[in-house]
Amino acid sequence: MAKPKNAMEIFQVLDKSNCRECMEKTCMAFAGAVYLGRRKIEECPRLDGETLARFSDRPESEPGIEQNRDDYLKELREQVAGTDLSARADRLGGQFSGGRLTLKVLGKDFSVDRAGNLSADIHVNPWVAIPFLDYVLKGSGLDASGRWVSFRELKDGQERYPLFQKRCEGAMKLVADGYTALFDDLVHIFGGRQVPEQFESDISVVLHPLPKFPIMICYWQPDDGLESSINLFFDETAAGNLEIGSIFSLGAGLAQMFERLAQRHGFS
Ligand code: SF4
Repeated sequence: MAKPKNAMEIFQVLDKSNCRECMEKTCMAFAGAVYLGRRKIEECPRLDGETLARFSDRPESEPGIEQNRDDYLKELREQVAGTDLSARADRLGGQFSGGRLTLKVLGKDFSVDRAGNLSADIHVNPWVAIPFLDYVLKGSGLDASGRWVSFRELKDGQERYPLFQKRCEGAMKLVADGYTALFDDLVHIFGGRQVPEQFESDISVVLHPLPKFPIMICYWQPDDGLESSINLFFDETAAGNLEIGSIFSLGAGLAQMFERLAQRHGFS
């Protein structure tokens, strides 16, 4: 099947029962998430095999989900063209100079110019670029309060938590279990800061994927027959600076970066 032209085309093939088994509030919300590349159509358990086959029956070369994500990224970059980047810099904890707004992303410079062109000291991947632009366009600039909450406690986080747990916390736990230098690398490579252990964890590290958007990663080592675990915590102002889809995207993107880091060091 050709790439869907819009979310409505995906919605048409769904059950339309709004049963929420996919953890989205409605079938329409799920269709939008699939179109933007944040979900896979296979995650709706109510689709029959024929429909799934129609959607997945694409030549390898068809762009599919990645193309949808790229389209969304293009839309966001176009919106930047109508934005006063200088005013946004003051509000968001960035700098404006030479027609570019620059924010620190994991300790590295990440910039956008008035034409929406992105440049960075790190690889510009869509998992980071989309939350970056969402923050530039819609972030309220709230200062972090220092009070930590879980993903589930964020606005609309409860319903998305099972998938967040799997794609982000679960994936990070697997990396941390095998690659014990992970937390040192987070400090040295990604500008993280080890903080006194929180919530009785063994290790707690705070990262800044965006200037006013800290994430705290807490790791509990295996102990006395108990499995290890990882939980991510967000400042309670987080949902004012990024919408939940972008927070999900950042978490999943970080997990992917950690996996690649571990592979580079021979752990996989
Ligand atoms: S699981 Fe499928 S049918 Fe149920 S709400 Fe999600 S998209 Fe709709």
